[in-house]
Formats: sequence, structure tokens, C-alpha cells
Amino acid sequence: MTRFDVDLFVIGGGSGGVRAARVAAEHGAKVIIAEADRWGGTCVIRGCVPKKLLVYASEVSRSIDDARGHGWTIEGARHDWPSLIAAKDNEIARLSKAYAERLKKAGVEIVHGRATVTERHAVTVDGRTVTAAHILIAVGGVPKRPPGNWITSDEAFHLPQLPTRVGILGGGYIGVEFAHIFAGLGSKVTLVHRDTHVLRGFDPDVREQATKGLTAHGIDVIACNEVVMTGPTTLKAGARSIEVDCAMAAIGRSPCTPGLGLTEVGVKLDGRGAVIVDEMSRSSVPHIYAVGDVSGRVALTPVAIREGHAVADTLFGKRPTPIHHRLIPTAVFSQPPCAAIGFTEPAAREAGHDVVVFRAKFRPMRYALSGRDEQVLIKVVVDKQDDRVLGVHLVGPDTPEIVQAIAVAMTMGAKKADLDRTFALHPTTAEELVLLR
Ligand code: NDP
Repeated sequence: MTRFDVDLFVIGGGSGGVRAARVAAEHGAKVIIAEADRWGGTCVIRGCVPKKLLVYASEVSRSIDDARGHGWTIEGARHDWPSLIAAKDNEIARLSKAYAERLKKAGVEIVHGRATVTERHAVTVDGRTVTAAHILIAVGGVPKRPPGNWITSDEAFHLPQLPTRVGILGGGYIGVEFAHIFAGLGSKVTLVHRDTHVLRGFDPDVREQATKGLTAHGIDVIACNEVVMTGPTTLKAGARSIEVDCAMAAIGRSPCTPGLGLTEVGVKLDGRGAVIVDEMSRSSVPHIYAVGDVSGRVALTPVAIREGHAVADTLFGKRPTPIHHRLIPTAVFSQPPCAAIGFTEPAAREAGHDVVVFRAKFRPMRYALSGRDEQVLIKVVVDKQDDRVLGVHLVGPDTPEIVQAIAVAMTMGAKKADLDRTFALHPTTAEELVLLR
């Protein structure tokens, strides 16, 4: 008989925590999971899922514009923000409930409440203390907030009305995605970023195209690193004064470790407050693990899920599973989206590869009749020595779908010659990937 109440106590019911809890229970472990908010975490409640629903809604205005060239007359089209938000909330409630149900079905005990680590092997939630052989920290992160009356993505999902004028601070994933969402639905958007091009970390060609894409959608992009709120509706960005109805900060996220009791039991955190973990997601206290955004590695849902699954397999599946954060596909759901996997051109060179770059830019057939002046970018970075595809970088409609498929080939070690000998599927955007010469 175990000397602990449970084999695993998971703190945090988001993507990583839920996967770990469910798989651990399926391996036969006794598991409790605690969540202070709703089941599903950032991705389901206030991240990827509601964001994508808003993107779909926003993109309709592009379709309406394009429809004219296809012979359609669409009159009187107008958008109702409260209806969108209500529909989105219904869907999120459905998903959140499904998460809780799947946990219960797997035999996991679910507890609502804010849990803290009170001893090396004990977690307290709602006045109840549970001893656990292993503890998994999967509490995610929260948006950073600059001083002043800024909203963040958390509140953007619940605005009562579509703001007429929006000022967005930050040119990362969230800033760029929300700039397009608001602009597509009819807001006047100003995006302030402390560089001339948005999306730092992406390939320079993608960054350039994404920045142009914002401007092409009527979004005022200001490069400035001095932004302050000088009044309830006024932002000052360098010499520019911007009147807004809503100021939204999208300047990154912080791990939710404060108040969890981690450092008190010896868990080491890095300078940003993230739990320092090894490739098995194990912290400095060997039976305490951390996955997802709180572990400060790669803040993407599928990564958290993979990490959570690996912890469960390692601890209870007799399958020690290290996680290597390589070849992770990623997308920014701008309009059109940007999607990438692998090395950017500068990163490949920096890593010592002798690279050859294949690049295509063209107007997709989708816009032949609509006349939309928007180009697709396709860029493939190849190692000159062994012909291996090191990176694929795309901007254009459907590119996240394309990158997910090419990720399989790259994970299998695809070479440029493999792309070359692949038949094209005509007429598509993706065929250009196998036609680059
Ligand atoms: P990002 O790290 O992507 O971008 C933050 C932006 O804010 C950058 O442009 C950064 O500039 C800027 N910034 C940071 N600090 C300051 C500051 N003090 N003053 C002014 N600007 C500042 O963070 P997000 O908040 O956009 O998103 C958080 C994370 O969530 C992402 O990194 C991603 O991992 C995840 N996410 C993923 C999505 C997806 O997969 N589609 C969608 C949304 C979020 P600089 O570049 O100069 O540092």
C-alpha cells in the first residue's frame, strides 16, 4: 500500500495538466487534478480556441470583399459583436465541460479550487490537504500588464462592444492576431511595436510580409519603443498621440508561479518565475514536475500536451519519455496567416549550416478574380551539404494546414530531393513547395 493519498496530484486543468492526468489514470495511477478556473486552461478558455473563432468571424469581411470579383452582390452585410461573443462563449462552455467529463471518465478525481504546494509531498486545496507521490505543476501563465488602463487578451474576449478605435501594444503572436481580428470586424487599429517589423523570431521574409499585411489591412503600424498611456483614451507613442477607445497590451506572458508554494519546498525558478525543468520535465525537486507555459520552454498548446503525456508515460507507463523541442510547427493566425517550422535562414546560418534558400512569391489563384493585391510567400531553407530541409516559412491562406503536413516530412528527415520527386497537386498553393527549383 502506498504511503501517499494519490500517485499524482496535478495542479492546473489546462492542456498539459489534463493530458497528464488522463494518461496517468489510464496507466492505472490514482490521480487528482485541481483547477481554480474553468477546465481547459488558456488554450480553450482564453487563447487558441476562442481566438480562432474570432479569426473565422473576422475573415468573413475579406470574403465579402473578394466575393464581388466572383459575381456576388452582397448588400447590407453588418456584424454584431455581442452575438459573436455569445456564440463563442457557448462553444467554450461546451468544450470546457467536455474536458471535465473526459477526466472523470478516465477515473481522475477533479477538484475546483486554487491549490498550493504546502509540503514537499503535499498539496492543499479548499482546506483539504492531499499527500502525493508526484506533483505536476501545469498552471500556465498570465498576460503581462504595463502600468495604466490596458486590457489584455483575457479581457478582449469579453468586450461588451467592438471598440471603434483600438491601440495594440506588442507585435508578437497576440498583437498581430488581434490587430487583424479587430480590423476585419471594423475597428480602426493602431499597432505599436518596438521594431520596424513584427513577429520577432520568425524568418525575416515572413516578418516583412506580415508587417506589410497589417498595413494592407488598414492597420496603422508604428515602430516605437516608448509607449505610455497619457489619459484614459490617449496613448503616446514617441511623437504620435493616438486616441483609442480600447488599449490592449500583448507584450508576452508570465508563468503563474507566485503563491504556489514552490520555492518554499525547494523548486527552483528562473528569472521570469518559470519552473526550471530537465528534458523529463522534472524540477529541482525530483518528484515535482512542470509542463506547459509554466515551465518556460515553448509556450504552445501542442507542446504542453506532449510534455504532459510524456510525464505520465515516464512515471506510470514504464516508458521514460524525454522531450526534445525540435521541429515544432507554429502559426500566427493573421489574415492571411503565417506558418513556419524549423530553422529560419539566419538561425540556420548561425547554427553553422551552409544553406541554400528557395523562395517563391506569387498571387494565389484565389485572388485572380477578386483582384486582391496580396502575395503568398514560400521559403524553404536547405542544408547545402546533405540536402536536408532545415526550415519552411510560409505566408498566405491555408499555410498553417500546409505546414502541419510538411512537418511530417521534416520530422522524417525530408531532403530537398524528396520535395522535388513529389508530384504536385494542381492547382494549389502547397504545390509550389515541390516545384521550387
Ligand atoms: P510574444 O512574445 O509573441 O510577443 C510579445 C510582443 O510584445 C513582442 O512584439 C515584444 O517585442 C513586445 N514587448 C515585450 N515587452 C514589451 C515592452 N515592455 N514594451 C513594449 N513591447 C514589448 O507574446 P504574446 O503576448 O503575443 O503571446 C504570448 C505567447 O503565447 C506567444 O509567445 C506564444 O508562445 C503564445 N501564443 C501562441 C499563439 C499561436 O500559436 N498562434 C497565439 C497567441 C499566443 P520584441 O519582439 O521586441 O521583444
